[in-house]
Amino acid sequence: MTLRSVVAFFAHPDDETVLAGGLIALLARQGAAVHIVCATRGEGGEAGEPPVVLRRELLGTAREAELRCAARALGATVTVLDYVDPTIGPDEALFPFECDFTTLAGQFADIARQRRADLVLTHGGDGEYGHPAHQLVNQAVLYAIPRALPGTLVYTVAALVPQIEDRLWNASEPAHLALDIRPWAEAKVQAMECHVSQHALFKRRRQLQTVREALRTVESVRRAWPEPRGEPPRDAFADLLRTAGAWQP
Ligand SMILES: [Zn+2]
Repeated sequence: MTLRSVVAFFAHPDDETVLAGGLIALLARQGAAVHIVCATRGEGGEAGEPPVVLRRELLGTAREAELRCAARALGATVTVLDYVDPTIGPDEALFPFECDFTTLAGQFADIARQRRADLVLTHGGDGEYGHPAHQLVNQAVLYAIPRALPGTLVYTVAALVPQIEDRLWNASEPAHLALDIRPWAEAKVQAMECHVSQHALFKRRRQLQTVREALRTVESVRRAWPEPRGEPPRDAFADLLRTAGAWQP
């Protein structure tokens, strides 16, 4: 089986780049049609320093444009769903977007079916650093895809690589494979450059000077479906990753 069609489900603009930009660029360069589905426009997030928009109600439109720019850089296409990203609360409290779970799962299944997805990528079950919107997308994907498309592979991203310190790892999901994505770094850095509203955030977390320095050079995955019997999993995606130099942490 070759990977002709890949669909990546994420919660906010920039998740695709930060969590899986190298993997998406690799898949696109291997000839797969990669489609990013973003549940919200990220209108509840940061507006940038200085802000990319003068009025907060314009942030969603600006971040959607940033996402489309990033997708082009990575070699992917985009669908943005109309869920509303709630504003970050006091003390940096994070919230999921409001939705009917069955409707959300149905939308995910419809998109994956229409695109005849061989592989689906999504957030980890821990929501990486515990973001409830990431967890919601993970749960909807894992509910929808095995039922609607049992032959489609589902992998979660940012799976734990214990040897590397990274606040984005899903601590309860050990990686099946980890990849040094530096051969695809130019596309990922270009995509990071697109997310102008998030640059201050990218740099602040590790007190960096440039966006490029915020590049995560190792990306990792865990197969969620079909549940692997014995490790490591063998399938078209795992084989592609191994060919690209991936290792089992
Ligand atoms: Zn996010």
